[in-house]
Amino acid sequence: MRCLKCNSQEDKVIDSRMSKDGFSIRRRRQCAACGFRFTTYEQLERNDLRVIKRDGTGEPFKRRKLLDGLVKACEKRPVSLDVLETAVDEIINELAAQNLKEIPSRIIGPLVMERLQDIDHVAFVRYASVYRQFQDVGDFSEVIESLEKEPPDPLLQPELFEKSS
Ligand SMILES: [Zn+2]
Repeated sequence: MRCLKCNSQEDKVIDSRMSKDGFSIRRRRQCAACGFRFTTYEQLERNDLRVIKRDGTGEPFKRRKLLDGLVKACEKRPVSLDVLETAVDEIINELAAQNLKEIPSRIIGPLVMERLQDIDHVAFVRYASVYRQFQDVGDFSEVIESLEKEPPDPLLQPELFEKSS
């Protein structure tokens, strides 16, 4: 795996962990040349899953696409990629548990929002605003209400409280 810092291709794996479901492996690597540490993920391709969009067209389910959505929502937020990777795994597990080969896209958004609500509230509102496109004021106040009801887990985002106060 090429080092992001110095481009060397020599690295050693310092830690490997398999996900609970056994479908992905997280590897912590260290560049042999400069010592830079980074994480790689290896996962089973779920070629069997398809996402059915609102207009009825389908496309293969892409883990990457789901992760990108979460990463985008968490831009400049104190959320680690690890937390998002775990959230994506949980969402995929949940979808897989429903034994659907064809997943309506509308059930994915709420699953993402559920996770983001616990991870980072700013990211949650960002995602919700894109997902729901705040069609009416009712949607918006519903989101705000749900934020007020459930405070975020401070263990997941200690920096947020230090910086924003
Ligand atoms: Zn390096």
